[in-house]
Amino acid sequence: PYSNFYEFLLAQAQKRKRKVALFDGDRKITYGALLENVDRLASFFAANGVGEGDRVALFLRNSPEFIYTVFAVSKIGAIIVPVNTFLKEDELSYILKDSESTVLVASTVHEHIVKKSNGPVQCRFILWEGESPQSDEKNFAFTEALTHSGEVRHIARRLEDTAVLIYTSGTTGKPKGAMLSNKNLLSNIEFSRKMIKVTHKDRVIVFLPMFHAFTFTVGVILPLYVGGSIVIIKSLQPFTNVFRQTLMKRVTLFFGIPSVYNALAKAKLPWYFMWFNNIRVFISGAAPLQPKTLNAMAKKFTRAKLLEGYGLSEASPVVCVNTLEKQKAGSVGTAAYDYEIKIVDEDMNELPTGEIGDIIVKGDHIMQGYLNRPEATRETIVNGWLLTGDMGYLDDEGFLFIVDRKKDLIISKGINIYPREIEEVIDAFEGIAASAVIGVRDEKSGEIPVAYLELDEGIESINETVLKKHMREHLANFKLPKQIHIIEELPKNATGKVLKRVLKDNLRDESR
Ligand code: ATP
Repeated sequence: PYSNFYEFLLAQAQKRKRKVALFDGDRKITYGALLENVDRLASFFAANGVGEGDRVALFLRNSPEFIYTVFAVSKIGAIIVPVNTFLKEDELSYILKDSESTVLVASTVHEHIVKKSNGPVQCRFILWEGESPQSDEKNFAFTEALTHSGEVRHIARRLEDTAVLIYTSGTTGKPKGAMLSNKNLLSNIEFSRKMIKVTHKDRVIVFLPMFHAFTFTVGVILPLYVGGSIVIIKSLQPFTNVFRQTLMKRVTLFFGIPSVYNALAKAKLPWYFMWFNNIRVFISGAAPLQPKTLNAMAKKFTRAKLLEGYGLSEASPVVCVNTLEKQKAGSVGTAAYDYEIKIVDEDMNELPTGEIGDIIVKGDHIMQGYLNRPEATRETIVNGWLLTGDMGYLDDEGFLFIVDRKKDLIISKGINIYPREIEEVIDAFEGIAASAVIGVRDEKSGEIPVAYLELDEGIESINETVLKKHMREHLANFKLPKQIHIIEELPKNATGKVLKRVLKDNLRDESR
């Protein structure tokens, strides 16, 4: 029934004026106050010449201001561009230029990056969130913007209009802006709501960065869509704060990534946390969940289920997820409703159940395309199907199993080697926190697998002979890594995904 985000916020705020929408430390922001701030901010934007179709970039830490901006931008019919705050100045410049953002909304904690970047030059102004920002004709503070009054017309955008431009985090190359329409996002919110059965009674804890597609849709938008509440955490550090807030604010839904669950599974939690938490569901996405983590979590939390899901920015982002009714270990769940998943070969022929191939998906959640990149769009969306770039198989009940990313596939002597299979074997070895296997050029074989390992905290070394024996017991000879490197920390992006490109680049630099 809605055609943009602002419309459902308005409806919820009329229904639950006094209910707390956002918890921010000790602050409580009701639906009534949230709507008022959104309206004020929208009026501030309008008074400063920001309107329909303009792109507003967000370089913000997790904060109520992030959320005000999302809904205010929606109200005036502009486009939200959430930018990864882990990016450096050149990358920020690139995205601001590529998206032709006219306004930058930034946190003062990231001021040094913004100042070094020449991207904001083309922006009409910067709106600052946080402590003591400077104020002149090109710089405004939220404290000022949120006192703005004056009516501003809510521009009812069409469902097909682009609402959000989300840049893929670039684990594979230059970031590309995925254009997501109101329809794409509303569809994905509805899908996630039904799959996880989210209601107004839910309280969601958001500690992952809000700019990420996964957090943006299910952590920020979905709870407000159903009239629930969000507990905002600025950063994962210190981890104990996440537990404390989970307990104190009676959180029911916990969205995390595998590294968080690894830590949670290992953490020594006080007994009262185990008994008095209200969590009903843990959701994991963004990267593969190790089976040992799933098992440890199941042992530790007997009253809540950890469900794994899968998605990508280009699909707004959720493609499938395990449900409370039915889940399978190792699977990322099933699609449902109008979402479809198919496994195909190189020529887009559908493969039978159980066979590994390219994962393609279809539904209202599929992006409109990549901004300014018609060719990349044509290569990615074929006859309405999104080519995910991931490989996997479906079982006879439609459960999807991800095998690997297509670009990470190693081809050795003409045989396919899936690094993830090797990584799972290595990860199961005592003392290893995480691993990454990459393909390295080799004259004889074409490519050979090379492993990088990160050890558990407090572990100085492992017995490599025993590790090799463990690998030989579980892997065919041709899959055995030809080199093993122990490194202090694997390069990872904001959501804990290992940046294999960085490992490959380092190796290339070394061999030069
Ligand atoms: P790029 O598009 O440059 O690779 P990115 O990987 O950060 O950037 P995202 O949209 O954030 O882009 O991530 C989507 C990818 O994350 C998927 O294509 C898939 O490879 C991986 N992924 C997401 N969920 C899971 C999961 N549960 N298990 C395994 N992989 C997952």
